[in-house]
Amino acid sequence: MKNGVFDICDEYNRRFKTLRVSLTNHCNLGCTYCVPLGEKNVNKKNGNILNVENLIITVRTLHDMLQLNTIRLTGGEPLLYPELIPFIKAIKKINIPNIKMTTNGYTLAGKAKDLKAAGLTGINISLDAVERNAFYIISRRKNLSKILEGIDHSIDAGLRVKINCVLMKGVNDHQIIPLFRYAMDKNIPIRFLELMKMGHLHNNYQHYLFTQAEILEVLSNEFSFSSLKRTPGSTANYWHLPGGYEFGIIANESEPFCNDCDRLRLDSYGNIFGCLSSNTALNITECLHDKKKLGNQLQRALHHKKTKFYGSGLSMKSIGG
Ligand code: SAM
Repeated sequence: MKNGVFDICDEYNRRFKTLRVSLTNHCNLGCTYCVPLGEKNVNKKNGNILNVENLIITVRTLHDMLQLNTIRLTGGEPLLYPELIPFIKAIKKINIPNIKMTTNGYTLAGKAKDLKAAGLTGINISLDAVERNAFYIISRRKNLSKILEGIDHSIDAGLRVKINCVLMKGVNDHQIIPLFRYAMDKNIPIRFLELMKMGHLHNNYQHYLFTQAEILEVLSNEFSFSSLKRTPGSTANYWHLPGGYEFGIIANESEPFCNDCDRLRLDSYGNIFGCLSSNTALNITECLHDKKKLGNQLQRALHHKKTKFYGSGLSMKSIGG
């Protein structure tokens, strides 16, 4: 602490500027990379889950300490959080400049206008296939059309929309071109994600990994493009087509972006995680009123940040993808 102000910073000059909040670990899709076959996708209601008032206090206190630039609401599936709209309105009052959400979009249609009016500034919608059968195989759910409708509603509502697609070799890599054309037709950026070694695939991810180089090769058979300079702190590398359309690749495996990572994660139980590659949860519910203790927990979380991505056995839906 310097002159009464905490500067939580590590030897690589990394600071927490983006907070990812997992509002719930419950999800209504069963994506094969996230949910092991046979797992009942239910929320464990053990009474520890933060209610909306406590969640707002937690975020406000973290923002006071860290002067966050961005909060991203995720999960689990954030649209399943019953107090989502009041929560977004409260965050807006806290004055975090960017309020974003990552959602599977399954129940988004009809909600986009209210989300925008509440203060949401951007939305990343996960879409791993645009063909019905391929969508069913990867997500284990039908009704792809509900998500496509949610995407249209979000565009109409004036939200900044991006599509995220996790690729699994032999499962949905044949969807690269159809997804790319779908996103380009709507003029919304698509980002392809290399599979991360998280959760039940932690030790078996190589089998399914479809790399940045492979993605670029598939795209270059149909399109020409050139690379853009990476923005510091960004998760994605970007390219653009001669007409101006931009797309990205989140190459966690081939080109990890740990060196300037600014992300802190908060789960729905009030635990913070400083790094996806550390499954050490640090509870902060008891130290919100004690800045020194909270500062220590944040410094410990920052200390967990690795300089290389190792992943962990934790599923993205509990730690907040
Ligand atoms: N339910 C929301 C959704 O589907 O967007 C938010 C939570 S989900 C865990 C957040 C993001 O993490 C999604 O884009 C999802 O595809 C991605 N994800 C989950 N597990 C992953 C993995 N092992 N590798 C790469 N991305 C993963």
